[in-house]
Amino acid sequence: MTGRNLGEAAVQRAAEEPPIFSERLTSVLDAIFEGKAPNAGRFCGNCYTPIDAQRTRCLHCDQDVEQRPAVEKVPQEVLAMFRQLRRRESLVVNGFAYVGLFSGVATFIGVFYVLFTVGASVWWYVFDIALLFVLSRVLAGLLGGYIGDEVGYRYARRKLAEDWAVYAVERAKNTP
Ligand SMILES: [Zn+2]
Repeated sequence: MTGRNLGEAAVQRAAEEPPIFSERLTSVLDAIFEGKAPNAGRFCGNCYTPIDAQRTRCLHCDQDVEQRPAVEKVPQEVLAMFRQLRRRESLVVNGFAYVGLFSGVATFIGVFYVLFTVGASVWWYVFDIALLFVLSRVLAGLLGGYIGDEVGYRYARRKLAEDWAVYAVERAKNTP
């Protein structure tokens, strides 16, 4: 990918503009990847949001169908970008979940060490083991589900904006 030479500003702009994948396209793409919908229909030639047969303008990006004809399927490159988006999101979410899990384990080991040092009674060890399970689960859920979700979303969208910027330049070269 040659996204670097497109300039930070362009990428920043792309990231802030209306989402590259509109809500409607996102749900269609999710359905396509789940095998619940075929990659067929009428899609905006610019942003690939599905558009109804009678419409002459895209509701998402305001593209005039006269200027850039609608397409009958989402291009492979766009499908690949979407898959990459989902992959990046879950990578970050899982990463944060693991950090939470290991924090729970580290706490367990720390408490275990203290109990061992002071010669605590066996019930304290039982408590420590319970702590391990509860804390690992709660921290994994919190870090993955809240922080990871938020960070992953931003990260994946930003990378998508880079990918899209490259794609849009290539696409412009190939269309007269
Ligand atoms: Zn559009």
